[in-house]
Amino acid sequence: MNTEGVTTINTIPTVYLVGAGPGDPELLTLKAVRAIRAATVLLVDDLVGEGVLRYARKAARIVLVGKRGGCASTPQAFIEKLMAAEALKGERVVRLKGGDPLLFGRGGEEIEHLQALGIRVEVVNGITAGLAAVSALGVSLTHRTHAHGVMFVTGHPKAAVSKEESALHWPTLAACAAQGITLVIYMGMTSIHTLQNGLLQGLPADTPIAVVQHASLPQQRCVVSTLRDLTEVVEREQLASPSIIIVGDVLRGLTQVAAQSEGTKRMA
Ligand code: SAH
Repeated sequence: MNTEGVTTINTIPTVYLVGAGPGDPELLTLKAVRAIRAATVLLVDDLVGEGVLRYARKAARIVLVGKRGGCASTPQAFIEKLMAAEALKGERVVRLKGGDPLLFGRGGEEIEHLQALGIRVEVVNGITAGLAAVSALGVSLTHRTHAHGVMFVTGHPKAAVSKEESALHWPTLAACAAQGITLVIYMGMTSIHTLQNGLLQGLPADTPIAVVQHASLPQQRCVVSTLRDLTEVVEREQLASPSIIIVGDVLRGLTQVAAQSEGTKRMA
C-alpha cells in the first residue's frame, strides 16, 4: 500500500483520526493530505470542506456520516462499528473530522471504542475553526493588553440539558471572561439568547463580540458588535451555523471601528 510518509504497521489494524481543518483545503496539514491520499475508506463529517475530498483516491470508499445539530444523522454507534469493521478487514481507514479531530465532535469517544477493540489510533491535528475565525478578524486571542488566556467552549454541552444548568454555565464563563480570558464559543448559534443573557450576568453590555460564519471559506462572514446586541445582530444578519462566537476585550479595536461607521461593522 502506498503510504507516502504516513507511518504504517501493516499487521496492526489502524484508524487515522484526521483533522480536515475549517474548510479551506489549503489549511490541511501535509500529514492530513498524505493520510487522505492513502485511505481506502473515509468516514467524513459534514463540516469537512468539499475541497478536502479531492485528495482522496478515486477508488476510495467515501462514507458521509454528517450530523449537523437537529438534522437526521448517522448514529455514533454505527460510525464506530463501521470504522472498526473496516480497519479489522485490513482497510486503510481515515476518519475525517472538521477542524481538529479532538476538539469537540466526539473524537475522544471514538478513540476509546477503537482502542477497546485493540485497534490502533493515529491522530493528525487540524486547524480548529475557532483559530480560523480569529485569523479572519485579524486579532490576537491573547493580546497581552487585554487577555491572558483563552477558553474554547461549546454552546451545546451534553451535560447542560436543563434551564437551571445552562443558567449556571454562562455566568461562570462570564466571570472568567471578566478576568481576561477570551471566550471562543462553538455550536452556540441555536442557544444564542440563553448564552447572551447568561454572559450579561457577569460581563458589561458593551463587551465586544464577534461572530464568524464559514471561517476560511469563500462565503465567510464576520460581524462585530457588543454583547448587548448579540441576538439582534445575529437575527438581522441572518447568521447561522457553522459559526464561531468570540467574546472579549481583544476585539475592542474592532468594535471601535464598527461604532465609528454604522453601529455594527460587517466585514467581508
Ligand atoms: N472539531 C471542530 C469543531 C466541531 S464542533 C473544530 O476543531 O473546528 C462544530 C462547530 O464548529 C460548529 O457548530 C461551529 O461552531 C464550528 N465550526 C466548524 N467549522 C466552522 C467554520 N468553517 N466556520 C465557523 N465555525 C465552524
